[in-house]
Amino acid sequence: MQTRLLRPSEDTTALEQAGALLRAGEVVGIPTETVYGLAANALDPAAVARIFEAKGRPQDNPLIVHIADLESIAGIATEFPPEAQALAEAFWPGPLTIILPKQDRIPMVTSGGLNTVGIRFPSHPMAQAIIRAAGVPLAAPSANTSGRPSTTTAQHVMEDLNGKIAAVVDGGACSVGVESTVISLCGERPRLLRPGGISLEQLERVLGVVDVDRALEEKIDDTETVSAPGMKYRHYAPKAPVTVVFGTPEASADYIYAQLGENSGVLCFDDCAEQFRGRAVVETFGPANDEAEQAREIFDALRRFDETNCTEIFAQCPPASGIGLAVSNRIKKAAGFHVIDLTEGQA
Ligand code: AMP
Ligand code: MG
Repeated sequence: MQTRLLRPSEDTTALEQAGALLRAGEVVGIPTETVYGLAANALDPAAVARIFEAKGRPQDNPLIVHIADLESIAGIATEFPPEAQALAEAFWPGPLTIILPKQDRIPMVTSGGLNTVGIRFPSHPMAQAIIRAAGVPLAAPSANTSGRPSTTTAQHVMEDLNGKIAAVVDGGACSVGVESTVISLCGERPRLLRPGGISLEQLERVLGVVDVDRALEEKIDDTETVSAPGMKYRHYAPKAPVTVVFGTPEASADYIYAQLGENSGVLCFDDCAEQFRGRAVVETFGPANDEAEQAREIFDALRRFDETNCTEIFAQCPPASGIGLAVSNRIKKAAGFHVIDLTEGQA
C-alpha cells in the first residue's frame, strides 16, 4: 500500500481527504496535541481491526475513542456522571481520556474486549476537523509500531507505518508530546490509570481524592489482569536496554559517568550533556527544570538511540510531580522499571 502524506498547510482539501478515507474504512495517521494517533472509524470493527494489524498491537489493548463535540458521548457511553461532566468542563478539549461504561454500539474490538470505553475530546484543530470530516467517532491509539516510542511528528509515523496505512496528515510537532492522562470513573473512586498531559494535581483539584494505579510505578506481570491493559506491555523502548538513574541532576550525572563503558548511551538533561560528550552517545530531552519541554522531546530522544550503535543506555529522570509524573513514567517504562534510586534512604 502506498501511504499518502497529506499536508493541510499546502493542500486545502487535505483534511477532507482524510475524512473520506476514514469514512471508507481506511486507517489514517493524524496529529493531536498529545502524540500522533492512528485513526479509524470506532464503530466499524473491520476498520478498527486494521489499526491493530498495522501497529502489531495485542488484541486486549483497548483504543481511545476520539470525539469533537460533547453530544457524541450519548452514543458511546451508557452514562455521563457528574464527575465526568466536571472533568470535561475543566480539561476538554484537551489531553484527558475518561473511561466510562460503554454502549453496545461500540464494538468489542475497539474496547479490547472490555465493557468500558475511553473517550477523549482532543484540542488540536486538525484532529477536530478530521473527526468532523469523518462524521464518526475515531478510535485512535498512538501511531507507532507496538512497543516503540510514540510518534510526535509525521516523519516518525512514516518511519514506523509507511506502506501499512492509507495516509498520514502532517500537522507538525505535537505541543504536549506525551499521551493523554487516562482516568477511570467506573469504580468506587476515580482512578488514575496513566499519567499524561493533565497532571494528577490538576485532577485532584477537580475531583478531590484520586486513586493511583500501581501500574504507574512498577512492572506488571504479563499474565496479570490490569485496569489499563496498555500498562503491562513493554513500551516506548529503544533497542538497547535502559537503566534509569534517579537523583538530583548532578548526582545522577556523576553516577552515570562512573558507569560508562565502550558503547554506552546517555539520555540526559540539556544541562548535563557537556559532561558526557566524547564519552558516550548523548541524546538530550530538555532542561532539567522544564518538564513540559521534556515531555515534548522525550519520544524523539528515545527514537534517536535506534539510529546509533550503543548497547546500553543510562537515563536521567525528572521528579514525579506535575507533568514530570508522565515523563518519568515513560522513561521508567522504556527501562522496564529498571531504576537505580540514588535518593533511597535519604529523608
Ligand atoms: P494508546 O492509544 O496507545 O495511548 O493506548 C491507549 C491506552 O488507554 C490503553 O493502552 C489503555 O492503557 C488505556 N485505555 C483505553 N481504553 C481503556 C479502557 N476501556 N479501560 C482501561 N484503559 C483503557
Ligand atoms: Mg501507545
